[in-house]
Amino acid sequence: MHVIQPKIRGLICVNAHPSGCAFTVQDWIRSAQGITLDKKPQTVLVIGASTGYGLATRIISAFSGNAATYGVSFEKSPRAGKPASAGWYNNRAFGSLARREGLHATTMEADAFADTTKHDVIAALAANGHKVDLLVYSLASPARMHPRTGKLHRSVLKPIDTPFKARTLDIWTGEVSRIELPPATEQEIEDTIAVMGGEDWRFWIDALAEARLLTPDFQTLAYTYLGSEITWPIYWHGTIGRAKADLDRVAANIRRDYHADAARVVALKAVVTQASTAIPVVPLYGAALMKTMTSLGLEEGCFEQIGRLFTTRTKTRFQPDDDADRIRMDDLELSSAVQDNINEIWPSLNTRTVADLTDLDGFRAAFLRIFGFGHPRIDYEKPVNLFQISDGFR
Ligand code: NAD
Repeated sequence: MHVIQPKIRGLICVNAHPSGCAFTVQDWIRSAQGITLDKKPQTVLVIGASTGYGLATRIISAFSGNAATYGVSFEKSPRAGKPASAGWYNNRAFGSLARREGLHATTMEADAFADTTKHDVIAALAANGHKVDLLVYSLASPARMHPRTGKLHRSVLKPIDTPFKARTLDIWTGEVSRIELPPATEQEIEDTIAVMGGEDWRFWIDALAEARLLTPDFQTLAYTYLGSEITWPIYWHGTIGRAKADLDRVAANIRRDYHADAARVVALKAVVTQASTAIPVVPLYGAALMKTMTSLGLEEGCFEQIGRLFTTRTKTRFQPDDDADRIRMDDLELSSAVQDNINEIWPSLNTRTVADLTDLDGFRAAFLRIFGFGHPRIDYEKPVNLFQISDGFR
């Protein structure tokens, strides 16, 4: 039994609270039970299912739509004195509540890029007599061991062609400082595409098709971020943007090779997740965005974004909203009301003004909540068992 308090190292929190994670999953599940879906996929496979957008997708599929869900994620198990990753606790909370509702839930904690993981998911689907009618690709990973070449690719967050000079925020000290990032090399661009581009998404679809485990009218979604002028130099015009553009290419190929609605890229809003806070500028932009969208009554987190995706874009199937055939859930973030406000305060953001002009406290709280900290129903002075999520969890 251990008392668990947040341990922050640089941009990341290196521990997680078992009951805090479980209660947050339970909160999302309760909200999902209040949502009615027009179209209900029967069997949903989520790649990257344990946190952030993938977890929201799995919860809404299961608890709003009664789908059988399969989730793949990469986790750290607990060890003596060391908590597991947040996703490990989230997966157990999800599994326990799904079982209680009689919902099928298979979770694979393994490397989604590996052929063995694909084989294991295929074997489980076949054994359960399930065919996938929705596959959601929600992976955010820093590295990929290529299953065919054995080469390890590492993604980088860098600009392309010109150095990127900007201000960024240390969310713990509140310091706004200047950073300069050199442009990526060709190799770094290629590596980032290999990790975060569409090749592995396509491998999943082809492997399932070959095993005859896709329904004839299946759909697949991959999540992307486009952002606004402030984040373009490091995001859409940077290495990660190249990888995201590759998702658009692969989506078009899947539509060509399977059917006209088979694949969609979904542009989502910037939210606080483990992946997004590691991107330079994003915490400063995100804290400004949170304040602006909250004041306009438009703020959404992962759960609200995916709830809106599943309730407003799926009368019959997921349909595109723009000329690039993408679904645009970033419409509110990119609305002129929101962007004009951010552009107005942006030049004045510095260490002195950041607490007033942005929602720094809200951003910190949302970050800590990812790891199970700051939940109002948890007594964080109380020791907990690191190997289970049952303490006080109903
Ligand atoms: P996240 O860090 O919360 O979740 C990433 C998931 O991927 C986790 O479940 C993790 O376990 C899993 N994962 C990572 N490497 C893996 C591996 N090798 N094998 C199996 N699972 C692995 O990330 P997120 O922010 O929810 O991002 C999900 C997707 O949404 C990404 O494609 C991201 O670009 C996109 N997106 C994020 C934002 C944002 O602001 N967070 C905005 C728009 C789009």
